[in-house]
Amino acid sequence: MIDAKKIKQDFPILFQTVNDEPLIYLDNAATSQKPKQVLEAIQHYYEFDNANIHRGVHTLAERATSAYEAAREKLRRFINAASTKEVLFTRGTTTGLNWVAVGFGDLIIEEGDEIYITPMEHHSNVVPWQQLAKRKKAKLVYLPLTADGFVDVEKSAEVVTAKGKIMSVCHSSNVLGITNPIKELAALIHQHNGYMVVDGAQSTPHMKVDVQALDADFYAFSGHKMLGPTGSGVLYGKEALLEKMEPVEFGGEMIDFVYDQESTWSVLPWKFEAGTPNIAGGIGLGAAVDYLEAIGMDAIEAYEKEMVRYVLPKLQAIEGITVYGPADPEKHTGVITFNLEGIHPHDLATAFDMEGIAVRAGHHCAQPLMRYLDVSSTARASFYFYNTFEEADQFIASLHKIKEFFK
Ligand code: PLP
Repeated sequence: MIDAKKIKQDFPILFQTVNDEPLIYLDNAATSQKPKQVLEAIQHYYEFDNANIHRGVHTLAERATSAYEAAREKLRRFINAASTKEVLFTRGTTTGLNWVAVGFGDLIIEEGDEIYITPMEHHSNVVPWQQLAKRKKAKLVYLPLTADGFVDVEKSAEVVTAKGKIMSVCHSSNVLGITNPIKELAALIHQHNGYMVVDGAQSTPHMKVDVQALDADFYAFSGHKMLGPTGSGVLYGKEALLEKMEPVEFGGEMIDFVYDQESTWSVLPWKFEAGTPNIAGGIGLGAAVDYLEAIGMDAIEAYEKEMVRYVLPKLQAIEGITVYGPADPEKHTGVITFNLEGIHPHDLATAFDMEGIAVRAGHHCAQPLMRYLDVSSTARASFYFYNTFEEADQFIASLHKIKEFFK
């Protein structure tokens, strides 16, 4: 099993005190911390290779270009895309989903068509589709969930119709701690000749993702949740669909030829990447992939599963606790969302902070889900593979202490 204590040594930020207590960082679903290998890759780029890419013939420009394109190849391999033509660098999941909604959605959606999402989606997988539905007078339809909080495939089959053109669902939820049956949902929407879009923000950092095995048509994720820098991310799309899809941003880098009145586009993947990209971000994300692969995504997933088996029952045993999502640790990811009776989640998070423990409180950018759960907000502790079992003990001990304090 992973030696989290040893791995933690690679994350300098984790060795500090907060409110005179050693920091315990349990807000990994919001953003992960970065190992020194990623920080060094970014530093190295700025110290030795900094130049604008693709256009220059000088040595630094060539070095920067090859480092950036090498990162794209690492990301291709990481998600098992068939070609780097299918790997678009973005600013994160939000950018990727917006590009699909505008560049592809606007092409294929007609009045009366249906777009399927779920009540558990992050706002970045809700609002772009609401806007598309409004532009096209299409219908935004919410798929049913099981009692545990998974998308219910059987009941969804009764909802999806011949008017269904796009289904967009999160692979893993940032609130409910579940991983959805994407392959089955993709098969369902494909039966109706529609397209499967996946929000991979919470899955890609924690498990081996194979976009071909899932048969996703588009798959978006963020670099900053998987050890990479903020402002980095990827949109995967099947080559034939990206050929058809329109670019959403226009300008330098994405053109082939600019005439006086119109222009033609560059080939994939550059057709979508207008302007000077986040070069250091892409290179840093490539270093993050190297780091994750050296540990192994299966080992990371197995470690987090052990952590959930350990911590979830301890949390459930506390009187007055409600844990959202499945009660069974075998079905639960390392994202654990809860409320403690009589204590507002913001007070809970502030009390945890006094103990040096970073957890999140609020609606988690999932207001439709808060309405579905009939709560205004919740607390959330989210674990990653550098969190130790001692930290989990501290988390539980602090929760007992906070409960006593508020009694
Ligand atoms: N989707 C999910 C499930 C998320 O958890 C997040 C971020 O919290 C996003 C999308 C948006 O990611 P970003 O803000 O990096 O674009």
